[in-house]
Amino acid sequence: MPLALYDTWSRALRPFTPIRSERVGMYCCGPTVYDHAHIGNLRTYVFEDVLRRVLARNGYTVRHVVNITDVGHLTSDADEGEDKMEKGSRRTGESAWAIARRYTEAFVDDWRALNLLEPHVWCRATDHIAEQIAFIAEIERAGYVYRTDDGLYFDTDKQDDYGFLARLDRAGLQAGKRVAIGAKRNITDFALWKFSPPGVQRQMEWDSPWGRGFPGWHIECSAMSAKYLGTWFDIHCGGEDHIAVHHSNEIAQTQAAHGTRLANFWLHGHFLTQQGDAKMSKSAGDFLRLQTLRDRQAEPLAYRYLCLSAHYRSTLQFNWDALRAAQTALNRLRRLYAGWPEGGVADAAYVARFDAEANDDLNLPKALAVLWDCVRSGLPGATLRATVDQFDAVLGFRLRDWRLVEAKVPAEVQALVNEREAARASKDWARADALRAALDAQGWRIEDGAHGPQPVRRAPQAAAIDP
Ligand code: AMP
Ligand code: ZN
Repeated sequence: MPLALYDTWSRALRPFTPIRSERVGMYCCGPTVYDHAHIGNLRTYVFEDVLRRVLARNGYTVRHVVNITDVGHLTSDADEGEDKMEKGSRRTGESAWAIARRYTEAFVDDWRALNLLEPHVWCRATDHIAEQIAFIAEIERAGYVYRTDDGLYFDTDKQDDYGFLARLDRAGLQAGKRVAIGAKRNITDFALWKFSPPGVQRQMEWDSPWGRGFPGWHIECSAMSAKYLGTWFDIHCGGEDHIAVHHSNEIAQTQAAHGTRLANFWLHGHFLTQQGDAKMSKSAGDFLRLQTLRDRQAEPLAYRYLCLSAHYRSTLQFNWDALRAAQTALNRLRRLYAGWPEGGVADAAYVARFDAEANDDLNLPKALAVLWDCVRSGLPGATLRATVDQFDAVLGFRLRDWRLVEAKVPAEVQALVNEREAARASKDWARADALRAALDAQGWRIEDGAHGPQPVRRAPQAAAIDP
């Protein structure tokens, strides 16, 4: 079955065909690095990773670009409020630059722990100020820019199809205007360049032909995708919250400057929610990190398993029982896999079934069901191993790297584990954390085993896989 993907632009499942035969360009909006990524953000990157792996499985060479937003994202999507980086700086007392560096590193650690394939390009907004200024100048030459006291704005009234991606009801929005729009001409207009406030020196600011200041949030993605993929490329991804504002504005900018709608396919991952269906968000403050999951004995790869068990276009409500079930399923799969000998040939019928599900708009829940059918099929172990190896190219569980080691836990390691359990039982979290760190330093990670927490030797770091 040929690959078909749901394209938000056309609101339909479309057969995928690349624009150029040599490579598929894929741009994914990256994190705003003023805080840790939460597991909702990470769900979106897991979906994008699976997309990339499925493209590779279909024989395409992918060029994957991910940006790092380290300036210009204001606390309100309506171009108001404080820059999230400067706000983070006030919260922690560190410079905005130091915060950006720290949270970028933390993000890349999370990325690797989830076994997400390394992008071919990581690009920071602050490393591309010149490109953003040049892009704004193009938009200005095309006649879409006006100036107010606080910045340069994009005039969305000049584009008849502005907001098509989101099927925006512009007339309705204008009429029911409840938010103050300041000096903006239309509620949907957005900042391309903001001036530093008079008399204030921002930590992050640059000279531009229009005055000292900083770029608006959306321009970085138009400018950097143009630089690394061209102004008309294959696939643009992000979370569903980006449809109405960020991606609509990226399209408006690129269309004004270059006449394209940026990407041929627009794919959006749906939210991870918390109890009560609240969207998990960094600004709400109360969010779960990958480390929070580790602290409760769940591995990042178990979270990856959980993400794959829901379709990327349905909301996934997080709960601990489901995560524990994912961990158990993953552990079971690892144990079975470790017992199968090498040297077999993959079963073509199961591989075809698995690929058909993956090609049906990344239906990974059904692909996982095919995996478990196959595991229970009674095929010889060597055949199972060769078949599951093919599946793992998409699933990314690193089954090959996992070693069965439970029987060989040294006594001193077990003693640390027991001590940690005692600390946890008496709610001495600091001591429990320190013991976890000590175990980690010795190369041991704690997993939820069938009989309680169990030390497992950390798998060797997998070499970067680049299909
Ligand atoms: P941000 O760091 O807020 O710019 O977001 C990084 C990525 O995570 C974007 O693609 C967002 O659309 C996505 N995202 C934000 N919140 C969630 C959520 N609760 N569930 C899934 N994806 C999300
Ligand atoms: Zn973006």
